[in-house]
Amino acid sequence: MLNALEQLLFPAECLLCHALLPLERSRDFVCPLCRHRWRPVVPPWCERCGQPEPLFGRCRVCRDWPAALRQVRSAVWLDGAARRAVHALKYGGLPRIAADLAAAVARLRPTLPLPLPLPLPGAGAALVPVPLGARRLRIRGYNQSALLAHALGRRWRYPVRELLVRTRETATQTTLTPAARLANVAGAFEMRNRSAFPPRTSTFVLVDDVFTTGATLAAAALALEAAGAQAIVAVTFGRAIIPDFLS
Ligand SMILES: [Zn+2]
Ligand SMILES: [Zn+2]
Repeated sequence: MLNALEQLLFPAECLLCHALLPLERSRDFVCPLCRHRWRPVVPPWCERCGQPEPLFGRCRVCRDWPAALRQVRSAVWLDGAARRAVHALKYGGLPRIAADLAAAVARLRPTLPLPLPLPLPGAGAALVPVPLGARRLRIRGYNQSALLAHALGRRWRYPVRELLVRTRETATQTTLTPAARLANVAGAFEMRNRSAFPPRTSTFVLVDDVFTTGATLAAAALALEAAGAQAIVAVTFGRAIIPDFLS
C-alpha cells in the first residue's frame, strides 16, 4: 500500500536513461531496454579465463595466473550501456544500481564449478569482494565490488566475507600493458581473518566490477592462495574488450 502510494507520487525512473519504469519493475534501477543493451559474454571462450580469444594455442590472458584461480567469467561486454552502468555505480554516487548489475552476474552460475550453499557459516563457499585502497574508499564512501558481492550473495545464498585488504595503493591501470599491470598490482593484497574461513576446504568467489586484463583478480587470488586457498573462481559484471597489445 505504502509502496503503491510512493509509486504514484514518485514514479521510479531508470537511473541510466531516465525513462519511467513499469510499475511491476519499480524496485529496479535499470529499465528493461537498458538491460537489453548489455551484450552478454558467451562461449566459445578460454575455459579458464572466459576470454573469447585466442581460440588456438595457449591463452595469453591467463597464462601467468596463480594455479588456485580456476575460472573467471564476466557477465557482459563493457561497451556503451554497460560502461554507463559501471560508471553510475563507481562515480555517479548510485550504489543502489549494484542490485541490477548483480542480476546479470547471477546468470553466470551454471558456467562455474560452485558448490551448493551450505547452511553452516564458515563452510562451503564465500564471496570475496576485491577491496579498494583506504584512500579511494574514503573518497567514494563505499566499495562498489562489495556492494555487488552483497547483492550477488542474496541471489546465490552465499555469505560475503571481506577477507582481503589492499596493502598498498596502486597506480591507475588504464594505460599499462598486461605485464606491467600484473607487476603494478603484485603483492597489493593480503588475506586477513584467516581463522574465520578455512582456506583449504573453501571455495572463494572473487567479485569485482570489471575485468580488464585480469591482473587485479590474479593478484587478489595470489593472496588467497598464499593463505592456503586451493579453489578460487571469480566473477565480474563487465569485461573490457581487450585492445591490440594482447594479440
Ligand atoms: Zn533505461
Ligand atoms: Zn585464458
